[in-house]
Amino acid sequence: MEENLLPRVKVRIDALRQEIEEHNYSYYVLDKPIISDAKYDELIAELASLEARYPQLISPDSPTRRVGGQTGEGFNAVPHLIPMLSLGNAFNQNDLRDFDRKVRQSTGSEQVRYMAELKIDGLAVSLIYQEGRLIRGVTRGDGENGEDITANIKTIRAVPLKLRKSPKLIEVRGEAFMPKEAFYQLNILREETSEQLFANPRNAAAGSLRQLDPMVTSSRQLSIFVYALGAVDGVELETHHEVLDYLKEIGFRVNTHNQLFEDIEGVIEFCNKWEKKRFDLPYATDGVVIKVDNLSWQNFLGATMKSPRWAIAYKYPPEQAKTKIIDIIIRVGRTGVLTPTALLEPVVLAGSRVSRATLHNDDIIRDKDIRIGDTVLVHKAGDIIPEVLEVIKDCRRGDEGVFVMPSQCPECSSPVVREPEQVAVRCSNQHCPARYREKLIHFVSKNAMDIEGLGPSVVSQLADKGLVKSPSDLYSLKESQLLELERMGAKSVENLLGALEKSKNNSLNRLIFALGIRHVGERAAKLLAQSFENIYELMETDYDQLLTIPEIGPKVAKSIIDYFSESENRGLVYRLGRLGLETHSASRKLNGPGVEFFSGKTVVITGALKGYSREKIKDIIEASGGKVSSSVSRKTDLVVLGDEPGSKYQKALDLGVKIVDEEGLEALLEGKSL
Ligand code: NAD
Repeated sequence: MEENLLPRVKVRIDALRQEIEEHNYSYYVLDKPIISDAKYDELIAELASLEARYPQLISPDSPTRRVGGQTGEGFNAVPHLIPMLSLGNAFNQNDLRDFDRKVRQSTGSEQVRYMAELKIDGLAVSLIYQEGRLIRGVTRGDGENGEDITANIKTIRAVPLKLRKSPKLIEVRGEAFMPKEAFYQLNILREETSEQLFANPRNAAAGSLRQLDPMVTSSRQLSIFVYALGAVDGVELETHHEVLDYLKEIGFRVNTHNQLFEDIEGVIEFCNKWEKKRFDLPYATDGVVIKVDNLSWQNFLGATMKSPRWAIAYKYPPEQAKTKIIDIIIRVGRTGVLTPTALLEPVVLAGSRVSRATLHNDDIIRDKDIRIGDTVLVHKAGDIIPEVLEVIKDCRRGDEGVFVMPSQCPECSSPVVREPEQVAVRCSNQHCPARYREKLIHFVSKNAMDIEGLGPSVVSQLADKGLVKSPSDLYSLKESQLLELERMGAKSVENLLGALEKSKNNSLNRLIFALGIRHVGERAAKLLAQSFENIYELMETDYDQLLTIPEIGPKVAKSIIDYFSESENRGLVYRLGRLGLETHSASRKLNGPGVEFFSGKTVVITGALKGYSREKIKDIIEASGGKVSSSVSRKTDLVVLGDEPGSKYQKALDLGVKIVDEEGLEALLEGKSL
């Protein structure tokens, strides 16, 4: 009977294999998955169960038996010293107990110690250090060969270029990832510039690391947690927890939530505990990785072609919720792009209450056939961005409203345009009030000019009343004008005017970032500020000159040239300069002489400095290679004493940390010794 079924089963198996290979290509090579991970896992599970029932149809190149990735074009393929494998999956407690049973049976042991580690949603990389220096960074690829991404890996600040100890050769493996906030900001930026959005932080991290232009990688704020040793020469360790301690000791970032358990029951509790708690973490996780702690047992258990037998990935079920779309509204962004947003009946999702979900553009609304009044399934991409996954068509009553993208801008009534080959629809009016408002909101935001008290609602009021159109107008605001705003008392007005005045001293990199030049993020702004004497020099530079700056690529360079070729933007820069904003590069002046002292040093400031705001001195010290920390510890190298110092002064005295006053600090920044 079973034999008669064989041809039909074979057809299904072939179809599944082909479909999975296509998804592997979209996911691993293009970094653009078409289906959710849960759906993909269902396809794999179906294939695996058919192969288990019909072993005669097993094939060594089946996706159930091979690591899914490939090496992409444009990168050198390099062989791994030891294959980089995937992990077997567990979806419930029984799977975990099964795994434990097999491990105990094979090792003949009553009880096995396991390390439980949060499964970070990023991509695996291998870092090779020779005599303590990073010589190569490689992606997992197909497990045998990875892509050489050394230049890109070096832009991740959490990756040490030099280790605190120097074994002869050490290969470290870890997960490179994009923090949730960076993922969120990146997708907002891409939406505004009509670029394809990343489906989750894993694809965003992979797309950022597999870039031919390291400048792009560097702008993406990636980080890393390391979790294993690969090939080593000169290191002898016995357990996995010792490996993690050792990695920490030699300078790597190791996740602090990892926990060692005496048996699988402790691991199961850990998995349950983190199921909801993980949503409070600043990075996305999709499960827990469980590893046998004893390294000789790991060795003994070995691996299949696809995954080790001493580890397993416990996967959390996807967080989804059912809700209703009350309405679809339009938001007009900084570059004039119209973004449809669904207003939802509130639901709790991945740890918070959700009442809106971006629908991105009208193509997506059409493809998913989303209507006003629909009952929908929502999730949070990367645990952070609420999205409509699908419409539950069975719940339709027939009176749902079809959304039509307006032909006029909802803010200024100008006609909207769709640029050829772009999904985004834009307001055609370069002077649309929404663009000005959004640009202002960006200008004053925390990472830009950081003007406290000027949130989006105050900015909107100022713009609506016609008091402010351009960022330069902010600096001419009068007390009487501000007092007219809602919820603005004398004290708030005084604070706001003070914050505006203070922001004039911000360092040049903040001003460059605040201008909102397309593709110029915080990192690029810092590099530009370090490369030019002042903003006017940057404004007059040419394309070739920009390309000589390490990490600045053609896309960023072109965007800068385009920005400064517009007279409105040039006028703004001149006006800001005349108003007294810092247009000169502090770092450029100090970069040279102070570097020798400050490089790698941790500095704490206590009390107020006369000549510098906290932000400004922080930027200057950072530009000289130092780091500013908020508390004094044994690791502090220098404490700077301002007026009315706090308890940090006493602590510095107690710990015997070097202390200087403001003049001493300036002398060190100028390269003088004390
Ligand atoms: P995996 O993600 O299930 O597990 C292995 C990976 O976990 C490792 O390579 C490493 O990158 C990561 N990891 C994170 N934290 C770790 C830690 N502490 N210790 C060890 N490893 C850790 O396996 P995979 O082969 O990378 O990917 C397969 C999964 O990818 C599928 O289960 C599916 O969820 C997803 N996928 C989705 C699609 C799609 O189209 N949606 C396509 C292919 C793969």
